[in-house]
Amino acid sequence: MSSFDIAQICLNGHVINDTYVKYPETNQKYCDKCGEKTIISCQNCHTDIRGYQYFENVISMSMVEPPSFCHECGKPYPWTEEKMAAAMELADLLDELTEQEKDDLKKSLDELVKDGPRTVVAATKFKRILSKTGPEIATGFKDILVDVVSETVKKSIWG
Ligand SMILES: [Zn+2]
Ligand SMILES: [Zn+2]
Repeated sequence: MSSFDIAQICLNGHVINDTYVKYPETNQKYCDKCGEKTIISCQNCHTDIRGYQYFENVISMSMVEPPSFCHECGKPYPWTEEKMAAAMELADLLDELTEQEKDDLKKSLDELVKDGPRTVVAATKFKRILSKTGPEIATGFKDILVDVVSETVKKSIWG
């Protein structure tokens, strides 16, 4: 058996407090890293964001990275949407790519964050298109996406 506390996370995805209920003294209305508003529930279905996980008789799990999608309704959390939007904008800035390549890059971004069966395909496409740009562009995407893609994706794209 396990149970969850509630996590308080800012709109940009900084985890403020993963023990919102148990240790409310560290709650913050706004993020001290970026100044954004903090939330404790999904903006779409208002389900609490899962925080610290308590297990019986076992060491519990602290939250390191915020979840990308709501476990209740499946919608991306604001920080996931924000990072996707930022990555899409970066893709649009790449003049060295054709319109088709930009489109493919953006489509593969959608799959990259989902961590499903097509993620590997998307990662391969993404990497292939990125190879036409400079290394600083690849690093730019890495900085944006580092918290929203899985370890497997990170390894296959950025090594
Ligand atoms: Zn923040
Ligand atoms: Zn939801």
